[in-house]
Amino acid sequence: MRLAGQTLVIASHNAGKVEEIGEMLAPLSIRAISATEAEVAEPEETGSSFAENASLKSEHAAQASGLISLADDSGLVVPAIGGAPGIYSARWAGPGKDFSVAFKRIRTELGAKSPDAYFICTLALSVPGKDTQVFEGRIDGRLTFPPRGNKGFGYDPIFIPHGYDITFGEMDPMEKNRISHRARAFAEFLKSLKEGA
Ligand code: IMP
Repeated sequence: MRLAGQTLVIASHNAGKVEEIGEMLAPLSIRAISATEAEVAEPEETGSSFAENASLKSEHAAQASGLISLADDSGLVVPAIGGAPGIYSARWAGPGKDFSVAFKRIRTELGAKSPDAYFICTLALSVPGKDTQVFEGRIDGRLTFPPRGNKGFGYDPIFIPHGYDITFGEMDPMEKNRISHRARAFAEFLKSLKEGA
């Protein structure tokens, strides 16, 4: 599919995500606008998986705007506490989006259990009138407390990717965007665009 020259809605109101996805889309010569700019409201995330929630968001944005829409559903998975916060990653920060609340809850629930964790990103691409396509990326690492670094967003300050000794919150954004779950999902998305070209 050719996206060059088209307008695409990034179906998110999360400024951190919109910025990261916008940077990844930049080389594709498409005009990317956020859900806020497209005046598309975010639907309720009623799905039971990252893929279902991403599809809900991209399909809703494509229907409301009539434009190609790309949505991201992502989160932190900590196997030792039953996969939490998982699809509830945003909700664990509460209505005030205060991630220190989520950090404390994870730390308490984790206790002395394994700090292994991973981020998942599912991208859903909806083209009006066509079936939604889903792409997934994952990065493994471990949690650290107290949180470190003020770059990035969300759970970045407590996550150290494997092979590094700094958190995503301490990492140069260019480096994070090269290795992250979102970058990996994006690579799958680009691969499919090339295959379909
Ligand atoms: P949702 O996909 O809008 O449901 O929200 C996902 C939540 O997962 C975000 O609000 C963040 O808390 C968290 N999250 C997803 N990706 C990242 C990331 O790259 N860094 C840190 N937190 C993330």
